Amino acid sequence: MHCPFCSATDTRVVDSRLGPDGDQVRRRRKCGSCDERFTTYEYADLNMPRVSKSDGVGEAFNVDKIRAGMMLALEKRPVSMDSIDRAIQQIKKKILSSGLREVESQWIGERVMDELRELDGVAFIRFASVYRSFSDIDEFVKTINLMESKAATQKS
Ligand SMILES: [Zn+2]
Repeated sequence: MHCPFCSATDTRVVDSRLGPDGDQVRRRRKCGSCDERFTTYEYADLNMPRVSKSDGVGEAFNVDKIRAGMMLALEKRPVSMDSIDRAIQQIKKKILSSGLREVESQWIGERVMDELRELDGVAFIRFASVYRSFSDIDEFVKTINLMESKAATQKS
């Protein structure tokens, strides 16, 4: 690594220690040219990628949307919150391990479907039947909510 003071290329690590939570390494480096010392930090890149929607608009990854979509699909289904949390962790893991800086919202939707298929066949069909025609979790949530409010109006 280049020296940030004089840009020399020969810097060396003089001390290396693990951060208190074990998820970060702090290194003291010394420049061979100007003798300045500086610190670098090394940690896993766990930033979620940006999500590009079918209309081309990008947005920040939002796990709450995935949860909302799954909860709607799983409404009144015999699936525990623990199982849902585990499924969401799985989805996050797949997204992170893809190493992509940007993923399509459709791709995330496919991962949600994979998990729902494992969890509950009925929820999977609920989600897939609506989702496939929209390719977006936002749209899925809106559509289900609309269907439910219409059903409620008809009953009263
Ligand atoms: Zn230097």
